[in-house]
Amino acid sequence: MDIHWHRDDLRATDNVGLAAAGEDGEVLPVFVFDDRVLQHGSPPRVAFMLESLAELREWYRDRGGDLYVARGDPTAILPDLAVEHDAETVHCNAGYSGLARDRDSAVAEALDSDGVALEDHEDALHHEPGSIRTNDGDPYSVYTYFWKKWRDREKADPYDAPDAIANVTGEDLPTLFELGFDEPEADIEPGGMTAARERLDSFVDGPIYEYEDLRDDPAADNTSKLSAHTRWGTIGPRTVYAATEDAAASAPSEAAAEAVEEYQGELAWREFYHHVLYFYPHVVTENYNEYEEGIDWRDDADEIAAWREGETGYPIVDAGMRQLRAEAWMHNRVRMIVASFLTKDLLADWRHGYEHFRDHLVDHNTANDNGGWQWAASTGTDAQPYFRIFNPMSQGERHDPDAEYIREYVPELAGVDADTIHSWHELSEAERESAAPEYPAPIVDHSQRREEALAMFKRARGED
Ligand code: FAD
Repeated sequence: MDIHWHRDDLRATDNVGLAAAGEDGEVLPVFVFDDRVLQHGSPPRVAFMLESLAELREWYRDRGGDLYVARGDPTAILPDLAVEHDAETVHCNAGYSGLARDRDSAVAEALDSDGVALEDHEDALHHEPGSIRTNDGDPYSVYTYFWKKWRDREKADPYDAPDAIANVTGEDLPTLFELGFDEPEADIEPGGMTAARERLDSFVDGPIYEYEDLRDDPAADNTSKLSAHTRWGTIGPRTVYAATEDAAASAPSEAAAEAVEEYQGELAWREFYHHVLYFYPHVVTENYNEYEEGIDWRDDADEIAAWREGETGYPIVDAGMRQLRAEAWMHNRVRMIVASFLTKDLLADWRHGYEHFRDHLVDHNTANDNGGWQWAASTGTDAQPYFRIFNPMSQGERHDPDAEYIREYVPELAGVDADTIHSWHELSEAERESAAPEYPAPIVDHSQRREEALAMFKRARGED
């Protein structure tokens, strides 16, 4: 019997490591609550994980087996379990962050001293870090070239679930409270394999064909919302990709087929940032480009607090920040707007934003969150040029013209017409007072801050 050690691959089908573990007989699936990893968790993410684990355990139980659950140090738990059940190999799916890689080396070493192998598999990405390189053999730092190679590479088909599951029961699943977390304040989307499959099916059934037109419209809610599922591996990347290929094959028009490819391009962004993190692990805490460390961020505590609370007086920014608190998720376009606002209007270090997102997003993963922040702050690989600064008012007007999204998340503006909302920064105090007395005036002047941001970046680059 072989063991499969689940981590952020909380599914039974299309799981490379699990399929390998079940190839020659029974597989003993295991999940270990590791306090060193949990300390990086947050209520929405851990709640989503627990819900997904509960469903996974049920899936195994329905087939006469069980998910072995334990809490503690995997360098002790896994060797003991392998020896007790005579397992020669513990399988897992490779992790790409520094934390995951350090943990896995320690577990491999501990297993090795008992004569057990740790075999890691390529599962979470279609193309592993190192498998897509420039013609000179370097990792890509420009997405477009990466994407072309990624798109043209053959993709594996989804893997079957294993047939025989060992029936070894460990501990009960702990509650959030037992793991040291409070209930999330956000109302999060359901976790688990079934919810993931339903999301995918409903997305490829229609919305995917309008993705190109509607993906930047936060009120349209036309994106796949698969990010938390991808984060926790409740659905496999091959399953998602295969569904998009089927959708492309039956696309009703050329434009619809192009929209499918646009979506696949987003799947490739996810992989691009995983490659970046793998090759440049310093980006977790530092700017990708060293010279950007010289940026003299303004870092005003009150302004950062207003941003976190969604009280900046810039309606689209506040709507996004409140959506984050309410749902532990935020629309991609709005993530870009709020990130630009923090770094280029408030001139605050992107790391404040990254930390806030890490604490509140159900889909937070180091690679994408960091990639998104360094892109917006103009400090990352293939980032937004520093002189291209989003205007938060025109972004709101362009992407939420009827202010539908804004009104949904900012109740103080619920009864205010779209024109007034989109010209909030130009209104007099009396006009604002009469339109929405509870909603704040803009905390900064965008035009003025834009000039300050440009000067700040130029100074750091020695261009002033
Ligand atoms: P869809 O539009 O349906 O896209 C499908 C999938 O493609 C997503 O589920 C995701 O896996 C991937 N994807 C889409 N856009 C991006 C992108 N720009 N970069 C990388 N992958 C992408 N995404 C996360 O998964 N976790 C994060 O912690 C995260 N933090 C972000 C922080 C900032 C500042 C920004 C600007 C973006 C961040 N993103 C993050 C990327 C993106 O916003 C989300 O992946 C997307 O909003 C998730 O919604 P969806 O599943 O409906 O996306």
